[in-house]
Amino acid sequence: MLDVHDFRRAGGMKRLQRVARAGEDLGNAVINVPVGAPIELDLLLESVIEGVLVTGTASMVAVAECSRCLAPMEESQRIDFSELFLWDPQLPEELSEDEEPLPVVADGLIDLGPLLRDTIVIELPLAPVCAESCPGLCDICGASLAADPEHGHDQPDSRWAELKSLDLGSADDR
Ligand SMILES: [Zn+2]
Ligand SMILES: [Zn+2]
Repeated sequence: MLDVHDFRRAGGMKRLQRVARAGEDLGNAVINVPVGAPIELDLLLESVIEGVLVTGTASMVAVAECSRCLAPMEESQRIDFSELFLWDPQLPEELSEDEEPLPVVADGLIDLGPLLRDTIVIELPLAPVCAESCPGLCDICGASLAADPEHGHDQPDSRWAELKSLDLGSADDR
C-alpha cells in the first residue's frame, strides 16, 4: 500500500523505494517467484489531474526449470510497469464493453498488489534457459548433453530403421 494522501491534486512527484513480498501462485510450474521472496520496487509517483501515475521497476529472483535441459535454475528479473490510479472511479458508461476499469486511489492509498501480480505473471519468460548455449537433452535417451558433451548413440534408432525398410518395400512394388 502506498500512501498518497498528501498528493491530492497537488501536481507533485515522489520517488519511492519499497520491498514487497511475493504472494502465492506468482508464476507457473515452469517459472515462478517463491512465496515470501523479496520484490524490490523502484517507483515514481506523479500526481496528474485524473489521479496518480505510477511508473516503476520490480526486481526479483525467479526460480525456474530450464526449458531445454530441465535443470533447476534461478534468474533475476526486472519488470517495468506503469499504471494510472484514478481519484474517482470511472462510470460504467465511460467504459466500452470489453474494457477493464482503471484502478482507483482508495482513501488516499494505492494498492499495487493486483497490478504487480498481473504484470509479473505476464512478463515472466515462457521458456527460460539456464544458458543461451544450453544443449538440452538427448533426443533418444533424455540424458543431459551439458553434463556429457561426448554423448551419442552408435546404434541407429530402431524406429528409423523400420521406416527405411518400409520405403524400400514400396519402391519394390512399383
Ligand atoms: Zn539448460
Ligand atoms: Zn542419449
